[in-house]
Amino acid sequence: MSILCRNVWSTARRRATGLLAAAGVLSAVLGCAAPGSFQATAYDIHVQLDPEAHHLRGRTVVTLQRPSPGLPGSRPVAVEFALNRALTIATVESQGATVREHTVRQPAGTALAGEPDNSALLNIHRLVLGSPTATPVLTFEYGGELIQDVQAGEKRGQVHNLLMAAHLGPEGIYLDSGGGWYPSVYQDPNQPRGELAAYRLTSAPVPGMRLVAGAAFDEVESQRSGELIWAGRYPMPGLVLVGGPHEVKQRSAGDVQLALHYSVPADAQPQATIEKHTELFLESAVQYLDRYQPLIGPYPFERYTIVENFFSSGFAFPEFTLLNKVLLQMGPRALMHGYLDHELLHSWWGNSIYVDPADGDWCEALTTYAANYYGYVLDGDEKGARNQRRNCCVAVSRLAPENEKPLGRFNRSGGPGREIGYSKGALVFHMLANRIGQDRFWSALRRLTEENTGRFANWQTLQRLFEGESGQSLEGFFQQWVRQAATPCLRLEAAVWEDAGQALDVTITQSPTAFALAVPLRVVREDGDIIDEVIEMSAPTVTVRLPLDQRPHAVVLDPDYHVLRKLLPSEIIPSGATTRAGRTLLVVTPDGPLSEFYTRAIEDFSGEAGSKEVVLRSHEAVTSDELRRHSVLVLGNAVHGPAVRALLAGADFPVHFAGEAFKVGDVTYEDPKQSVLCTVHHPDVPGGGITVYFGNSEGALGRSDLLLFYRDSLVIFETAGREVEGRMRYDSHVIGRQDFERLQTVAVTDGPHP
Ligand SMILES: [Zn+2]
Repeated sequence: MSILCRNVWSTARRRATGLLAAAGVLSAVLGCAAPGSFQATAYDIHVQLDPEAHHLRGRTVVTLQRPSPGLPGSRPVAVEFALNRALTIATVESQGATVREHTVRQPAGTALAGEPDNSALLNIHRLVLGSPTATPVLTFEYGGELIQDVQAGEKRGQVHNLLMAAHLGPEGIYLDSGGGWYPSVYQDPNQPRGELAAYRLTSAPVPGMRLVAGAAFDEVESQRSGELIWAGRYPMPGLVLVGGPHEVKQRSAGDVQLALHYSVPADAQPQATIEKHTELFLESAVQYLDRYQPLIGPYPFERYTIVENFFSSGFAFPEFTLLNKVLLQMGPRALMHGYLDHELLHSWWGNSIYVDPADGDWCEALTTYAANYYGYVLDGDEKGARNQRRNCCVAVSRLAPENEKPLGRFNRSGGPGREIGYSKGALVFHMLANRIGQDRFWSALRRLTEENTGRFANWQTLQRLFEGESGQSLEGFFQQWVRQAATPCLRLEAAVWEDAGQALDVTITQSPTAFALAVPLRVVREDGDIIDEVIEMSAPTVTVRLPLDQRPHAVVLDPDYHVLRKLLPSEIIPSGATTRAGRTLLVVTPDGPLSEFYTRAIEDFSGEAGSKEVVLRSHEAVTSDELRRHSVLVLGNAVHGPAVRALLAGADFPVHFAGEAFKVGDVTYEDPKQSVLCTVHHPDVPGGGITVYFGNSEGALGRSDLLLFYRDSLVIFETAGREVEGRMRYDSHVIGRQDFERLQTVAVTDGPHP
């Protein structure tokens, strides 16, 4: 399970892309004023927040600078600012220029794939400045109510509420740089050069709330002035301010001050749990700093604060991480790799070394590699690491050809989705580390920190650093994996034993294009011993001769998933996603009225409304013919229907059902709290699946909302329900899981005898 996240760069970027379509309009209305000639070098933001009234009052002083000194000073210059539509500008004062004109327009919206379009939140204020000096200063006074519908962006099965951008309320404060809570210079989206400025923020204290901004808290100045003051340690692309009715716990890790801001539940039992979990989170943050600073260089800030959030999020910002409170309630399970470690690593990659908006987003790939994957390596958990590599291959294997886009265009308009940006990207860094050596890999990343903190970096920056450390050209590597769109699909075609020469000829093909690859091969001898080889290939077909002292039994292709490749359908481990992937889903329903738990499972397996045809059949009515033609979801006691029994038997389904119990291997699960989710490949539907969701009792299905999160072939849950304030609350944990893995293997055959 990996977390997706937003960082300060992506919120700033989102704002910019939201305004993309307005560019054409802009040039038509500008007249004689020259656009975009100024950039902001400093923002000094003052706010007074009243969460009860959702009200923000602000005064922002923006220092502008003319980048092109040749521009005649007397000519009027237009500058555009984005500001939340709910905020009204009362006055604009200027020093070093006169404000000749102030008009307001609405941006036309466009959004990145997978991100909602928040441009509707913004207004564009166009100011024409007369007789500007080289560094005019504008002071905006503004105010209004910032309210968003928090629930509208909450979606089951999705980790993040991406609709949220600017909200002030008693439950919490969330003001991100894309939400327009201060006026910021609008950049020309056709030339996304990315601009960094100095930020300073002053806020009056908000009674009952603790505020955190994405900048360094100035304790001395704050105490002296009675206000809360922050200043960015480095130039930044934007500023975020959050807060909530929180308690605080602190810890120190060397020079870094750690804190956790959280709300205390009213009940004694949840209170004790939360207190325990907050300790765990802080302890984990200490460990992560200990493990990553030696690898990638010193943590770039003085503070790291984990802030509990009032909506679904795992957002990383400079100096802090904003975490969904559900994660704090989950405790240890929310500390798997890919959660807090991933967000913490964005302190380096994304939030102090910024993603150059003129190139694709490299920071998610690198962060996913170092946290979600390499976390297991650092634990010494080779099985966990292998699972992650396999998951990366599975993620790209299900991509339709039209969604195969270059990694180097991730988070750019028309770029690829997260399977490429996160999963492919992580495995590309794994292959790179294998190629140049793990020590040189980390040493290049330490140099990235040394040389690029407070600056933009792009894929070329990384390539140059890795080349510098390894002393080899990586042009071909970056071309094929970062700039090119395809992912190779490898086939082990044959393994032929030449008795006369005492050698094995192994033939491998790749499609659709010829990549330069180092492909691991495992030769399995008759006695079960194995010999691991690595084959270099760059042609569509290659046959290699391996001298061996005896005829082996079989050959396995890349058994530990070290090469990013599209797996054959038979190699992809079956999981709920296999059954969900088809165009049609046949659901076989149990006796009696459908419980809400089954309804939820059907909804989750059906995907977005209208995305596929869903056919519901009772287990008495469903025919063998229907079951043969589609991916199938079987619910509860529908497993006992005669046609379903025949289907499961034909698919070698590894779970057996009897009354209100089920059996896996030799183990019988008969506790009413137990349930099972199991998927196998559908023998008659290529790429399709058969999934059974079965509970020994109704209550065992209480957490059917979690099914989508599991990528395993078989998961056994134990679920307990209790009544809280008149409603049932269910807690479940996993007591068993298995993956039905089928590696790409060929049996050795004998060559022609001379
Ligand atoms: Zn991330």
